Amino acid sequence: MQDVKDITIIGAGPTGLFAGFYAGMRGASFRLIDTLDQPGGQLTALYPEKYIFDVAGFPKILAKDLVKGFAEQALQWKPGVHLGETVTGLRREQENGKPLFVVVTDRDAYPSRTVLIAGGIGAFNPRKLPLKDVDRWYGRGLHDRVLKTQEFAGKRVLIVGGGDSAFDWAVNLQGVAAWITMIHRRDGFRAHPATVAQVRELCAAGKMELRTFWELKGIHGDARVERVTIVNNKTKEEDTLAMDAVLPQLGFISSLGAIAEWGLDLEKHDIKVSQLMETSIPGIFAAGDITTYPGKLKLIATGAAEACVAVNHAVHFINPSAKVEPGHSSNMAIFGQADDKTD
Ligand SMILES: Cc1cc2nc3c(=O)[nH]c(=O)nc-3n(C[C@H](O)[C@H](O)[C@H](O)COP(=O)(O)OP(=O)(O)OC[C@H]3O[C@@H](n4cnc5c(N)ncnc54)[C@H](O)[C@@H]3O)c2cc1C
Repeated sequence: MQDVKDITIIGAGPTGLFAGFYAGMRGASFRLIDTLDQPGGQLTALYPEKYIFDVAGFPKILAKDLVKGFAEQALQWKPGVHLGETVTGLRREQENGKPLFVVVTDRDAYPSRTVLIAGGIGAFNPRKLPLKDVDRWYGRGLHDRVLKTQEFAGKRVLIVGGGDSAFDWAVNLQGVAAWITMIHRRDGFRAHPATVAQVRELCAAGKMELRTFWELKGIHGDARVERVTIVNNKTKEEDTLAMDAVLPQLGFISSLGAIAEWGLDLEKHDIKVSQLMETSIPGIFAAGDITTYPGKLKLIATGAAEACVAVNHAVHFINPSAKVEPGHSSNMAIFGQADDKTD
């Protein structure tokens, strides 16, 4: 089992990352756990290439750039970061008469004095292609997500889907991939009209192909993806295309999973919290999209504010003599400022 931390943060979305920053600023040890293999939650998984206009202090910022800032701010404290791990259970033990939580994942167990649930809309898992032998192609040319665009350099890529991510990657892999064919099962799209227009322009210029009413029927090859069979769902016509990579962008399935079984007070799929971001179990706090209370807004800005409240109260929960009020970062010695009045 891992070492005991003050705060175990479930979820490395914007709320979890900002909670991490605050924990470090308050001198609390912490770790971050997330199912995804990259930080950023919904911003990374659902809309990395979209501009956000309502984050305090940024007139406009790309989601992926905002994540970079959140991550840099949180990781300055060098916490334990456990990506690609899903929280599956919780054990409640005692340490010197105080509660000790053991957060169990599909890989390990993490003891902690408090827990902060920043799980957003739940653990994300990419929706898989409905093909029988789909698992055999992972690592052989089938990618759920783009981690590095260079993985697609010089390749013929089939993108499957009609949402924002499919269109964003059709645009963003231009100049990297040798050729892009995009297929979608209907002719309506759930993507930003400006990106759809961009893709149509690229098609008109002969730089890629978009086929509507086509679906993927099979992937073929020896060691790696070499060809795909696609089928027109109206005419039943089939076509076989030489392809090096397949990139399904079919969205994500999200689920609160095991956290829903912990005995926390829930309202539908959200965790009820007090003004102090306490859940119904003392020592377990929650913040961000996963919480509910009268007047709740599910936004990045409110998640950050809630993270700040939750962490300051978690610190006070662990050590009742620690002030809840953090003081002003602009005065703190921890940031190299001379005039530290936070004691
Ligand atoms: C298309 C789109 C556009 C948006 N635009 C804006 C906007 O312009 N402005 C704005 O303010 N908001 C916007 N939002 C909303 C914003 O993205 C959310 O409010 C924000 O992401 C919430 O952050 P969070 O950290 O609370 O949750 P999330 O971002 O959902 O992150 C939660 C993380 O917890 C992880 N997790 C959950 N359960 C587990 C588990 N059991 N084990 C391990 N990890 C787990 C998930 O994998 C995820 O990474 C938009 C949302 C969408 C979908």
